[in-house]
Amino acid sequence: MSEAAIGGRLAIEGGAPVRTSLLSYGGQWITDDDVAAVAEALRSPWLTGGVRIDEFERALAEYVGAAHAVAVNSGTAALHVAAFGAGVGPGDEVITTPMTFVASANSVLFHGGLPVFVDIDPVTLNLDPLAAEAAITRRTRAILVVHYAGHPCDLDALRELTRRYSIPLIEDAAHALGARFHGTPVGRDSDFAVFSFHPVKLITTGEGGAVVCREEEAATQMRTFRSHGIPSTGREREAQGRWQYDMEALGYNYRLTDFQCALGLRQLTRAEAFVARRRELAAWYRRGLADCEGLELPVERPESESAWHLYPVRLRLERLRVDRDRIFAALRAEGIGVSVHYKPVHLHSYYRERFGFREGQFPVAEAAFHRLLTLPLFPRMSDRDVDDVIAAVRKVIEHYRR
Ligand SMILES: *Cc1c(COP(=O)(O)O)cnc(C)c1O
Repeated sequence: MSEAAIGGRLAIEGGAPVRTSLLSYGGQWITDDDVAAVAEALRSPWLTGGVRIDEFERALAEYVGAAHAVAVNSGTAALHVAAFGAGVGPGDEVITTPMTFVASANSVLFHGGLPVFVDIDPVTLNLDPLAAEAAITRRTRAILVVHYAGHPCDLDALRELTRRYSIPLIEDAAHALGARFHGTPVGRDSDFAVFSFHPVKLITTGEGGAVVCREEEAATQMRTFRSHGIPSTGREREAQGRWQYDMEALGYNYRLTDFQCALGLRQLTRAEAFVARRRELAAWYRRGLADCEGLELPVERPESESAWHLYPVRLRLERLRVDRDRIFAALRAEGIGVSVHYKPVHLHSYYRERFGFREGQFPVAEAAFHRLLTLPLFPRMSDRDVDDVIAAVRKVIEHYRR
């Protein structure tokens, strides 16, 4: 990064970029020990259905302080499984947020249910509990929230609401492993909380996910759903010297392999270090960008500790001469792998065409969407990388200021 690159012409207009190699917005951190643990699992007799799944589930439950964990082969599968555990079925309504990845709402459709979107809080961009309450009908089967960017939702208000209506709260906590609310880890005391272990998430198993829950019966049902609706496992049957199995319900094959669990077990031991580094990077961004007039930075409410899965800034478009997509392109040209989280779910073609959703229905989410830009944030980022992002953002925003 040269002084000329920082102060000079934008790369998108032919100037020198802040970086010559693209810094991605997120990514895993794999060590030699991780690789060795996976190799060991690959040499063991059970590549799938072995003991490591139990070990990983126990370790994950312990990490979040949950009673039970059910591991599956993606966060999306975990959402499908959690909605099953919550009893979502055909014709059921599930109140949820449009400001998320499509998989959250899709999990309701997988069961023949109907996602009922409500608007979001303009500060945290999490589902607004008052809007949720206003949308409750006799057909409401659950509320499905997303801890956006790793910042916990208002769990006090949401739990009070779901208890009052005797419906479960499903938390899509794909961003929020390691986050805390009133000092308590997200996932502890949850009816259902879902995690993802995709490489951009806090810990990774390649693909992978899990549901944590309080009730043993729900955990048992979800384990059966994960494996064809057959309650016994192959390993149990082998140990008992029997072949007989019975399919009790319609299930899927959502099993996580033993070598993925080996990686997950290793990664979990570093989860706290990953969160700490993410929190450090977020604080660094705040210091480096607080006085940047074209930007609104994400905040952390006093009762919350965000896991800082994302660092989504909002552009103050009234102070800029260009739109978000131009800023996006300009930062990409500077070598900064910015991203957008999210195009609201109801604006995707499938949702528009199948359900007739249109622009204007959820104004807070839609207004945020047009201003959102996610800056790179992942534990392996070097101090130099952070400085590059800050320099590039300042350069681009300053250039396009009104
Ligand atoms: C990543 C993510 C998912 C899906 O998880 P996968 O493991 O990729 O299937 C669901 N919801 C949210 C909010 C996510 O960020």
